[in-house]
Amino acid sequence: MVVGGVAAGMSAASRARRRDPDLEIVAYEASSHVSYGSCGLPYLISGQVRRPEDLVVVTPERFKSERNILALTRHEVLAIDPWGRTVTVRDPSGSTFKTEYDVLVLSTGGRASRPPVPGADLTGVFTLRTLDDGIALLEYLRGHAPRRAVIVGAGYIGVEMAEAFRTIGLEVAVVEMLPRPLSNFDPDLSELARAEMERNGVALYFGEPLQALEGDVRVRRVVTPSRTLDADLVLFAGGVRPAATLARDAGIALGPTGAVQVTARMETNVPGIYAAGDVAEVHHLLSDRPAYIPLGSTANKQGRVAGENAAGGDATFPGVVGTAVLKAFGLELARTGLSTDEARQAGFDPVSAVVRHGSRAHYYPGGGRITVKVIADRQSGRLLGAQMAGPEGVAKRIDIFATALHARMTPEEVAELDLSYAPPFAPVWDPVLVAARAAV
Ligand code: FAD
Repeated sequence: MVVGGVAAGMSAASRARRRDPDLEIVAYEASSHVSYGSCGLPYLISGQVRRPEDLVVVTPERFKSERNILALTRHEVLAIDPWGRTVTVRDPSGSTFKTEYDVLVLSTGGRASRPPVPGADLTGVFTLRTLDDGIALLEYLRGHAPRRAVIVGAGYIGVEMAEAFRTIGLEVAVVEMLPRPLSNFDPDLSELARAEMERNGVALYFGEPLQALEGDVRVRRVVTPSRTLDADLVLFAGGVRPAATLARDAGIALGPTGAVQVTARMETNVPGIYAAGDVAEVHHLLSDRPAYIPLGSTANKQGRVAGENAAGGDATFPGVVGTAVLKAFGLELARTGLSTDEARQAGFDPVSAVVRHGSRAHYYPGGGRITVKVIADRQSGRLLGAQMAGPEGVAKRIDIFATALHARMTPEEVAELDLSYAPPFAPVWDPVLVAARAAV
């Protein structure tokens, strides 16, 4: 049985089916859709993805006919009884029933934080997590023609949504209580994101916690200690928390991050229950500690491992190095490993080097300069992390550093890598090599 049917859950179900053609597999999903790319939601809002259904990977009908997996939408699991191995489910009619499982994969994901401020339940106030959320936001945009959006939070989703709202012609302001955007990047890199957002007409207010939303039925204003902003659309993008209440109530142990504690086999402390995706912790391969890094890339891998093991296999997920990438208007931003702050917190003595280098040969038209920051441990010389920003070629270049981190390489070893070169794609000394050399 699978509880939560998006990235982790349906990966688990599909993997379990591949391993055991005879297993009875049912997935309960509280929302109206299973198996879709929530990472594409900003592009649905911007219109680059035309229809909500374009984000769906496999429909419940295809799960049934092609994989013999019963995926039931609008079915919320209300409670798990691990001793009786039963779950209580509410179906679309509102009735509840109990049903048994032999093994359970808990993949309830994350939930968007909703600050408990006055006015948070006004019309025109949104979070963006599920495809249902995306559809509701689209309907509001079409039905109410808002002109001024305020985004609360300047993390990945806040930044991507600022671009999406600007793309469809809204005035956009971002209110963030921290002093800068993308706070899991080093300040010099998040400064580039700030400048790019401002260049594209986004008003930014940092160090300003949200105090209240005001309006009649519909939201009209956003209040911080320093100002009142007019708004007819507000998006809460202040972070993701593990949706772990169901787990906690069932006696499943949560880790220090508040997410479900799992082994490398994705087992929880309760026999017969696995957890995967945004509800679960990950092992950070650099800090050697549990971490909460909710990403689709990880959710799919963890789901696969949980599904394999739930069907009697023996797979493991060793952990992550914290690789992430996003697009902010004309800028690609990416990071892997530990930031300087994270490295200090993990007990390292970080040193860093920053270079700015062309993305293509200097004589080849187009491209631009990429900023690359490399972070290493002063004592051991080990590579700890890298961050990049630039107009192109960042997303895949960061994967070189991610691979190097998995291989526990030093910057010196990265600087010797045989990377590809031709003028349209890179200068003869790739920015990765130049930055790694500077960090030696
Ligand atoms: P979820 O996608 O959260 O799915 C969990 C599901 O469980 C939900 O549909 C929920 O309805 C259901 N559920 C919860 N409780 C119950 C219950 N009691 N009973 C039944 N069902 C339940 N990641 C990246 O790697 N790259 C990106 O570019 C990226 N961009 C993103 C952009 C946006 C706007 C968002 C919202 C996320 C983005 N992510 C990105 C993160 C990525 O989408 C998540 O990491 C991924 O969806 C996690 O998958 P999951 O299956 O663990 O959880």
